[in-house]
Amino acid sequence: MIRVTAVHPDSIASELGLREGTELLSVNGRELEDFLDWEFLTAEEEILLHVRQPDGQEIEFEIERPLGEPIGVGLEPARIRRCANRCDFCFVDGLPDGLRDVLYIRDDDYRLSFRYGNFATLTNLKPHDERRIIEYRLSPLYVSVHATDPTVRRYLLRNPTAPEILPQLRHFAEHGIEFHTQIVMSPGVNDGPVLRQTLAELYEFGPAILGCSVVPVGLTEYSKHHLVREPTADECRAAIQLIDERAAIARAGRGVNWAFGADELYLRAGVELPEAEIYAGFDQVENGVGSVRWLQQRIETVSAQLSGWEGKRIAVVTGTAMAQLMPMVLRPLTSITGAEFELIPVVNTLFGPSVTTAGLLPGTAMQRALQGRRDLDLALLPGESVNDDGLFIDSMSLGLLASSVPVEVRLSKDFVDALRVPVAA
Ligand code: SF4
Repeated sequence: MIRVTAVHPDSIASELGLREGTELLSVNGRELEDFLDWEFLTAEEEILLHVRQPDGQEIEFEIERPLGEPIGVGLEPARIRRCANRCDFCFVDGLPDGLRDVLYIRDDDYRLSFRYGNFATLTNLKPHDERRIIEYRLSPLYVSVHATDPTVRRYLLRNPTAPEILPQLRHFAEHGIEFHTQIVMSPGVNDGPVLRQTLAELYEFGPAILGCSVVPVGLTEYSKHHLVREPTADECRAAIQLIDERAAIARAGRGVNWAFGADELYLRAGVELPEAEIYAGFDQVENGVGSVRWLQQRIETVSAQLSGWEGKRIAVVTGTAMAQLMPMVLRPLTSITGAEFELIPVVNTLFGPSVTTAGLLPGTAMQRALQGRRDLDLALLPGESVNDDGLFIDSMSLGLLASSVPVEVRLSKDFVDALRVPVAA
């Protein structure tokens, strides 16, 4: 059963009299479990929909509509699938006490992997889930492999019953499912020969594995430092070498780069980022893989739309990691817009200075950085630092921050989103 949370005006749902609180029970006799069932089972032109109205009345509707016309309901969010692992590097273990409850949930959900590109380990799948992945062709999936060696993988996941990943992927691949994969590199565990073997086995698996990224493990002040550590510059350089070797094989064999390092890996290694061409579709840009090159490309593509900024002073608030790479983006942006950009790297006061990602910056730290800055025309804040409810990780709201600093603030994920409309003169 799925509960309706909103009915769009002038939609099929409003014509039928569905309303907030209506329970969607089945489509064509198939019980509904979540948004996946709803989307896939209602994709037909003709459907039989069984609902229970908030007053308890059950009704069946025969619906016939042009293909693609939505029914017009908002659905309650699916209950997130909990993770079956206990990785030493888990972000949840690295959280301080006192944050929003939802942040302490370890999610590992193949549905969100398909829908949003969240990485999942597939260690909590039941036969029913496997059947749905195949039936609904949930492809591509984003999979955290970490290591193909089952012993190493189980150790990393702290899950002695984790199924072997390669046979699991094989089963899905035989039904047409493809994968983007990642390896979170934990030094001394899955780097070196283990990394070489993992990259080789994933590549040799065949084209169903579309690519593999290597991301250095990231920790906060609160993480389990007695069990896991971040890689050194030398260890990152060694990983880049293995990635380059595998990428050369992939280019020769399949004409694609296939193996990638996260921007963070290059940053820690002190090695220049690869050129944009290697990332092809930027499939893992949300995972920090090719983000800087993607930004540069994006800005160049829409440069004509970024007018009206000549002489303006714009602050770019970001984490200390991105701040090191940001000049590569701000230089072209300056020449395109004629604005003056000031980079404001903000130290993470909630998780400690080792957490350098912009997306985890607390609102209070950014607020402090912008206090008294009347000289600025605009301040750009990292778009990924705010959730769907407009809250930063420390629960400060964007509205509160905006009203407490003397400069207009805008969220931005790629500059273009925030600079299309100039600030008022
Ligand atoms: S898979 Fe590991 S890192 Fe991800 S949520 Fe589970 S325990 Fe945390």
